[in-house]
Amino acid sequence: MNLLQTYEANGVSRPVYEFGESVLNELRERFADIDRMAELNQGKVIHAMQEARVDAACFAATTGYGYDDVGRDRLEQVYASVFGTEAALVRPQITCGTHALTVALSANLLPGDELLSPVGLPYDTLQEVIGIRPSPCSLAEYGVRYRQVDLLPDGGFDYPAIREAINEKTKLITIQRSKGYATRPSFSVAQIGELIAFCKGVKPDVRVMVDNCYGEFVEELEPSQVGADMCVGSLIKNPGGGLAPIGGYIVGTKDCVERCAYRLSAPGLGQEVGANLGILPSFYQGLFLAPTVVAGALKGAIFAACLYERLGFRVVPGGAEERHDIIQAVELGSEAGMRAFCKGIQAAAPVDSYVEPIPWAMPGYDDEVIMAAGAFVQGSSIELSADGPIRPPYAVYFQGGLTWYHAKLGILRSLQAMVDAELVRL
Ligand SMILES: *Cc1c(COP(=O)(O)O)cnc(C)c1O
Repeated sequence: MNLLQTYEANGVSRPVYEFGESVLNELRERFADIDRMAELNQGKVIHAMQEARVDAACFAATTGYGYDDVGRDRLEQVYASVFGTEAALVRPQITCGTHALTVALSANLLPGDELLSPVGLPYDTLQEVIGIRPSPCSLAEYGVRYRQVDLLPDGGFDYPAIREAINEKTKLITIQRSKGYATRPSFSVAQIGELIAFCKGVKPDVRVMVDNCYGEFVEELEPSQVGADMCVGSLIKNPGGGLAPIGGYIVGTKDCVERCAYRLSAPGLGQEVGANLGILPSFYQGLFLAPTVVAGALKGAIFAACLYERLGFRVVPGGAEERHDIIQAVELGSEAGMRAFCKGIQAAAPVDSYVEPIPWAMPGYDDEVIMAAGAFVQGSSIELSADGPIRPPYAVYFQGGLTWYHAKLGILRSLQAMVDAELVRL
């Protein structure tokens, strides 16, 4: 069987396959750069595991309180080393990225303090956490004020307005690395470093948290290595490598992470409690695989960008742009386009391939959301997935793929569905 036949057997027609190959022909150098980055980050992860003396004892299950859990403690050491921080909190008891961010925020903000976002509106689910949209138990309910400085029209930082917004109450600054469900650019680690330096120049004792979701292992450095006091993310995104079935992480200064541990468990208990219930092999092995998994996802994102750009759709980032996260937005211009795109992604999945995604109300989101995901881990977005809120510009956010070949198939099937629905002509 040749490759075309394989793709035909998987629902991709010859014209769609050939269109894809013509796009891919121009991407060889970009893909080689991505492989180099994966190699570099693979070395970093292996070095961290060796330094922490990871051994078979680290994979044993603990129960109950989980006192003296060697595997848990060494995994946190490994994360601290990979992210270049003093401390790390990496737990299955952190249920998702939003939870990790909530812990980091609420542990480091007290009544009367102010939180500042100098990069515009935060990710949808955080709006209720902060109280931008009212919610029981939001930070606002506990007397934490929120201030926001929007990005400039070109996506840059509005430094004069940021200087103005930082005041004696400003305790924590939150920077979201990835665009989330917005069509602004994602930030490079270097840009984040500049912004942090500026903020700390205005107020030296201000703390900075970076929402690192989808950014891990895309670049050589992480935001924690350019001045962030905390970096926060989800284990069912990049750093879990597709194997972690749950979890979140917070890496940063000893002081900040300790407070997070007290918030997550209880004052006085902190990091000492939290049984691993046998989940640690997937955390270790997932982190081990994460650099190559992220590389596959990046190739998929670039392929999707170049393919849809050539068909005349606006894509963010553009096909030729540098990558700072694994998210690819494709503005499809209509609900029908979003449905067709997601139908194709779903049809390419190893799990739940027979279902058709439809828009639905989701907890934490204001608009209806459509989601295509046929994942081994429910909702895992390091696995091939596409989703987006049903609102103009009708952008689908495409991400993941545990292997590049699966990402490629998904993108070709999305195009096939668009062609079949007569939304594009090749
Ligand atoms: C995914 C994401 C979150 C929230 O993570 P969940 O695991 O879905 O709760 C927060 N911020 C950004 C930028 C994200 O991409």
